[in-house]
Amino acid sequence: MNVRIGNGYDIHRLGEGRPLILGGVEISHELGLVGHSDADVLTHAIMDAMLGALALGDIGHYFPPTDDRWKGANSLVLLDLVNQLLQEKGWCVSNLDTVVVAERPKLKPHLPAMQDKLAQTLQLAPNAVGIKATTNEKLGPVGREEGIAAYAVALVITID
Ligand code: MG
Repeated sequence: MNVRIGNGYDIHRLGEGRPLILGGVEISHELGLVGHSDADVLTHAIMDAMLGALALGDIGHYFPPTDDRWKGANSLVLLDLVNQLLQEKGWCVSNLDTVVVAERPKLKPHLPAMQDKLAQTLQLAPNAVGIKATTNEKLGPVGREEGIAAYAVALVITID
């Protein structure tokens, strides 16, 4: 069995009139993330970690913001496409570990739903998808609630 590791990072601005979608789950909040797709920062970090494990570039290469096909796209659909790309190359995700950095809203009540959505999309057991939420202790742009950031690590293994 071959094993690879990848990491991903993403940040999106918070703005009015947008839904807040994290890990494919819509969370009630007065602000949402701004972006070309649904701006699901957690799912974006995960895709970059998966692509990075195989040195396949980043999501900007596969889903450029200049391409109208991805305008308002559900990031779980993009995640499924990235997973298919890995599988075509003979690899699959073993497990993920992630961190979402947001000052507000409280994400803890939503973590199990996010874990289920991501695990379903990737055909993984929920316990193969780690999601942690933390604040930035009011420091910097995330601390001032100007945006939400996410980090992800993916372990990728060859399909037997
Ligand atoms: Mg992004």
